[in-house]
Amino acid sequence: MTAPLRLFNSLTRELETFEPVHPHEARVYSCGPTVYNYPHIGNMRAYVFADVLGRTLSWKGYALTHVINITDVGHLTDDADAGEDKLERAAAANRQSIWDIAEHYKQAYWADVRALNIRQPAQWTVATDYVPQMIAFAEGIADQHCYRLEGGLYFDVSTVADYGRLARAATDASELGGDSRIDPVEGKRNAADFAIWRTTPAGETRQMEWDSPWGRGAPGWHLECSVMSGAVLGFPFDIHTGGIDHREIHHPNEIAQNQAHCCTNGLDVATNSGAKIWMHNNFLIDRTGKMSKSSGEFLRLQLLIDKGYHPLAYRLMCLQAHYRSELEFSWEGLQAALVRLKRMVMAVEQLMARADIEVPVAGPTEQATHDAIGSLFLPFLARFDEAVAEDLNTAVALTVLDEVLALKKADAGEKLRFVATADAVLGLGLLTLARADLRLRPKSAGIGELDIDAALARRQAARADKDFATSDAIRDDLAAQGVEVMDGDPLGWEWKL
Ligand code: AMP
Ligand code: ZN
Repeated sequence: MTAPLRLFNSLTRELETFEPVHPHEARVYSCGPTVYNYPHIGNMRAYVFADVLGRTLSWKGYALTHVINITDVGHLTDDADAGEDKLERAAAANRQSIWDIAEHYKQAYWADVRALNIRQPAQWTVATDYVPQMIAFAEGIADQHCYRLEGGLYFDVSTVADYGRLARAATDASELGGDSRIDPVEGKRNAADFAIWRTTPAGETRQMEWDSPWGRGAPGWHLECSVMSGAVLGFPFDIHTGGIDHREIHHPNEIAQNQAHCCTNGLDVATNSGAKIWMHNNFLIDRTGKMSKSSGEFLRLQLLIDKGYHPLAYRLMCLQAHYRSELEFSWEGLQAALVRLKRMVMAVEQLMARADIEVPVAGPTEQATHDAIGSLFLPFLARFDEAVAEDLNTAVALTVLDEVLALKKADAGEKLRFVATADAVLGLGLLTLARADLRLRPKSAGIGELDIDAALARRQAARADKDFATSDAIRDDLAAQGVEVMDGDPLGWEWKL
């Protein structure tokens, strides 16, 4: 018996058993990055979460279609419609074309995706590729749900039932959006009304603009996600994900548009919102202030790598917390995750020296593992399953994996089979990572790995000859270059910087 998958739906604020819209399928849309700057590691937590969700669905046997969008137009400096377009601003500041900015940061984001072992989604949807569909969507709802102001076409949130339920906001539309972050726009009927098309002001031009029935301009950010998710996955689809900040404005606005588009009303029928389940990861918190993209040394994945931390140590750090809990970043925490990852990789290396198993490229499913693995491992598989099936409790799943790795007198091949199935969900690359891969040389280090290894070999030879003066001299020489020699380290690190 496998455990039914239960997921926390932000719309109902309850755990719900996953029942796919289309039998045996899972269709998931994740709000992707706005490519005006490098993603910080907090942003990447959102995609590690979406990846674990997708991996879990695949592991449970559902045929997954995952879509992540790339926002290259329309996201303003304020989520609720005020300020400038983030990409227009970055382009002006760097005196570059928006298209170049978007391409550069999209590539940087994709590099982080690969480094974190996040699986490629079935499709990356790029907002600027969908503008005609966005215009058609807006035309379809304009008469009944929108009105025009100088700034463009606005959505009237009082025309749909239950607006803001996702955010648990007040239900009286006239009170909604009384948030200080929302700039008052003259003529808005309700404070929470938002632009679905932003008309370029007379006498101005934008780098990115298109003709529309509401004048030349650009789509609103909320419209983009409604259109791309519906166009690729079809309404209703199964799961929509994003960071918890999106629960307050972006997703309530998407839901309102979806209701208007699908000609549905109240949210008591879950499918009326476009997606049945809305899931949100909590934030990575950083008290050093370096996660702000405007600060000089900001917390992006490359900074961690430059300091000598393998990116998968960050992935493990994320998995050690529940996705709905805040996670505080610290270098000590990252170091602890790196050490834990190293212990796992060493244990798996030892197993691989003793046994060989064939692993399907897509990773084994739960069912295939259940049918193939020895009975000693079935209780562990059941506990691993219960953990991930209960709203993706990766922290508990990791402890089950640790227990299996620590089992004495168990068959190496069977253990590897368990590792393969666990890693299909966790995505730590345990079957391909080598211990040496985890030892990254910090960028600031003046000496290369080959030189360190050569010096250590000379020291080894001197010690074998009982030439302790030479051995000590080599050690001191390395210390002067910032390398600490670690004799007898239980984890087998020979040196550290
Ligand atoms: P953005 O590129 O600003 O649209 O954000 C990309 C994703 O990162 C969104 O899903 C956000 O909700 C999410 N996000 C932003 N900041 C954090 C954070 N500190 N921790 C976790 N997720 C975040
Ligand atoms: Zn979105």
